[in-house]
Amino acid sequence: MSGGERQEIRFEGAGVSPGMACGKIHVVRDDLDDVSRYRIAPSQIPDEIGRFETALIQTRMQILEMQQRIAESIGAKDAAIFDAHLLVVEDRTLIDEVLRKLETDLCNVEWVFQEVATRYAETLNKIDDPYLRERALDIQDVTKRVIRNLQGKAPKTFLALSELHILVAHNLTPSDTASMNRANVLGIATDLGSRTSHAAILARSLNIPAVVGLHDITAKLETGQHVLVDGSDGLLIVNPAPETIAHYAELESRRARVVSQLKQLRTTRSTTRDGRHIVLSANIELPEDVEAVAANGAEGIGLYRTEFLYLNRTTLPTEDEQFETYRKVAERVRPDPLIIRTFDLGGDKLAPGTVDITDELNPFLGWRAIRLCLENIDIFKTQLRAILRASAVGNIKIMFPMISGLEELRGAKAVLAECHEELRRSGVPLDEEIEVGAMIEIPSAALCANVLASEVDFFSIGTNDLIQYTLAVDRVNEKIAHLYEPTHPAILRLLRMIAEAAHAHHIWVGVCGEMAGDVALVPLLLGLGMDELSAGATSVPRVKRAVQSLAIPECRELVEETLKLNTSSEILSRCLELADKRYGDLLG
Ligand code: PEP
Ligand code: MG
Repeated sequence: MSGGERQEIRFEGAGVSPGMACGKIHVVRDDLDDVSRYRIAPSQIPDEIGRFETALIQTRMQILEMQQRIAESIGAKDAAIFDAHLLVVEDRTLIDEVLRKLETDLCNVEWVFQEVATRYAETLNKIDDPYLRERALDIQDVTKRVIRNLQGKAPKTFLALSELHILVAHNLTPSDTASMNRANVLGIATDLGSRTSHAAILARSLNIPAVVGLHDITAKLETGQHVLVDGSDGLLIVNPAPETIAHYAELESRRARVVSQLKQLRTTRSTTRDGRHIVLSANIELPEDVEAVAANGAEGIGLYRTEFLYLNRTTLPTEDEQFETYRKVAERVRPDPLIIRTFDLGGDKLAPGTVDITDELNPFLGWRAIRLCLENIDIFKTQLRAILRASAVGNIKIMFPMISGLEELRGAKAVLAECHEELRRSGVPLDEEIEVGAMIEIPSAALCANVLASEVDFFSIGTNDLIQYTLAVDRVNEKIAHLYEPTHPAILRLLRMIAEAAHAHHIWVGVCGEMAGDVALVPLLLGLGMDELSAGATSVPRVKRAVQSLAIPECRELVEETLKLNTSSEILSRCLELADKRYGDLLG
């Protein structure tokens, strides 16, 4: 290597969206990097002070709540840690300095606050006293929280970069991904995450190569460095050598050949070799994703994640706004179906400023989806009315997320019936026969599927959550990503139980989790009797090829055999064997 060339360095993570991207990176370290600076007029100072005071009050309340929860669950001693955090939001010296600097600098308050707080923490950190160093950490922690609260009122702008780049971030939350300028992101690399984290789902649906679970990559790289992202093998290569680039160019041209062959399948049906038609639909997150549905040859939308409508804004979407959005999407895909999932906020999908969810110790086990809807009836009804109104113009079906049992399902259906009755009385047209389904994504729902099946028109299995809850593996935690096993014998049994319950009650059953887009697992899903598969739009052509290459009897045989196996890896190997025999070129 000549002296001018930089050394190639490789980092390993999990490849979650295949393909290769090469380019300059933009590193987003954490929330504090996202604070933008803008000038304000002297007349705006009172407003900025108001925003600051509200954020401090909000922060104080969050800390108190957290403290109380920890006192109840762990003990008062651990909860006392937060006393120091409370002192920070009440620290007069810090607050006065911010107010003074606002007057002199005439900049937005989050910027001023960050400047003052960071300097304050740095000063304490330099003093050789363990107590003061702890205080510096407290300040950093609280600073992030205050800034996050301030940003709840101002949408993030950091991801809307105008140049082509590879985005390197600690984590990409759903609200980050909803606000980023997707057209300019060539590749994604994150410290955290796993195959079913939303950054991964988004990357796949946008066809952006992505590697997640790179641990502390944001601390090791700087904006502007040149990297290659290998989303298939999960590599991030810094300063790729010419021979590395040549090797990847060769792989890319092979991939492009497969992609162009797959394009020809767009107008064909997803029917197995022995003539069984499997409905193959696409998942969407934003209304603009609808363009990719037909373009990739999907038959409608099997999962519309409507919670994305609630992110990055300061007011709730109105009934009319939602109606317009659903109507447009439904019109675009009709006569094919549009399955609208009622909003699934909570977990990692937070919408501060509209639906406030205070910090929870276990957000995925917390106030999420249908639980939140049933306690916010007005917000829920607004959405249901909008969906029902749109059902007059398209083939719309509704499904409820995170159903854990019959009471919850009945509760949701009762609210829907109320909306239906109100609209009917006002003479608003709607689809009287609208199908209503339940997502099966909690083990309790899977185990009681025979009970739920008699009260819905269909099941859609959310394997992303079903796996995380069954195996107790947080789907976004990269440290345990290797334990997240879709082919675990327990998952196989639950899937079989759900499909059998659905068919015993003569309703259809589909899979809308990421498993549906994994061609290695398609034989298993067909063998289990799934009637529908809904995957990210860009995975649809590959899944279609897989369906067309398989015959149901061989898939059933596979299921019978794998039910006798006791480990995830053995089950996966058997699936791969059949997949490789039928469409080996799609694997790897
Ligand atoms: C799932 O859990 O599988 C699912 C499809 O829903 P989400 O990924 O949005 O939680
Ligand atoms: Mg889910």
